[in-house]
Amino acid sequence: MIDCVFCRIARGEIPARVVARSDLALAFHDLNPQAPLHVLVIPTEHWNGANEVGPAGARLWPALLDLAVQVVRQEGVADSGYRLVLNSGSDGGQSVAHLHVHVLGGRRMTWPPG
Ligand code: AMP
Ligand code: ZN
Repeated sequence: MIDCVFCRIARGEIPARVVARSDLALAFHDLNPQAPLHVLVIPTEHWNGANEVGPAGARLWPALLDLAVQVVRQEGVADSGYRLVLNSGSDGGQSVAHLHVHVLGGRRMTWPPG
């Protein structure tokens, strides 16, 4: 996807504060943080969202969650607690059409989310 902002970050064409990477995924700080720790974990390959992944998910979902939990440990919020969020579609609040998992931590989360 030539113009996709997260594909461009994955290709190194747009700067991002990368915190971790694996063979399938990349983690970088969100530009507009909603918590003291707010990192996005994306597949380096373009997927519009969760619904499109299909059978590729057998490798992709564990890779995304593995990297998210690695970030949580690395950034020191594993013990205090954190939240992983995957916004999907318009009602789900997804604004960037490249699959991503939010890693939020460093403050107490409320429930239900807005
Ligand atoms: P969502 O609303 O779930 O699609 O989340 C998209 C997230 O991407 C938002 O939290 C944005 O702040 C974030 N975002 C958009 N553009 C960038 C960028 N260039 N670098 C880092 N984060 C971004
Ligand atoms: Zn993309």
